[in-house]
Amino acid sequence: MNSREGVFRTETKNKNIQIDEKLAQELTTQAKEAMKNAYTPYSNFQVGAAVLAQDGKVYTGCNIENASYGATICAERTAILKAISQGNRKIYAVAITSSSHKHTPPCGMCLQVMCEFMDNEGVIILSEDVSDVMKCTMYSLADFLPNRFYKDSMDIK
Ligand SMILES: [Zn+2]
Repeated sequence: MNSREGVFRTETKNKNIQIDEKLAQELTTQAKEAMKNAYTPYSNFQVGAAVLAQDGKVYTGCNIENASYGATICAERTAILKAISQGNRKIYAVAITSSSHKHTPPCGMCLQVMCEFMDNEGVIILSEDVSDVMKCTMYSLADFLPNRFYKDSMDIK
């Protein structure tokens, strides 16, 4: 998988959003803050996410587990659904962090939700803590799902 160094550009129909190292760090810091609210009595594995949406705002989320395990929701989807429920229809970037302090890629279900609202060049920011220094690495959605299924895959009139 190709990680990206430095500035990462994601183009959309209306805007050219630049995700640089500074913004990646800011989003990851907000994801870490959101992780503090994780509800994880079963796995004790906390995840936080921060989403940059088309309105320019950042929406955060944490994983929320449930005694009925299938009702659990990931941090990424929590954050994305918050953004969508506020009227956004486009997501530019998702930063993900976890209590493992290692790269925590999104699960398949979250990737599928990202496909609905992100372009191929939408940015996924993973982080790791190395000797107490937070290092962010940027990927595109296409790095994870090069042949995604999304609305253009269907011939809807
Ligand atoms: Zn997930």
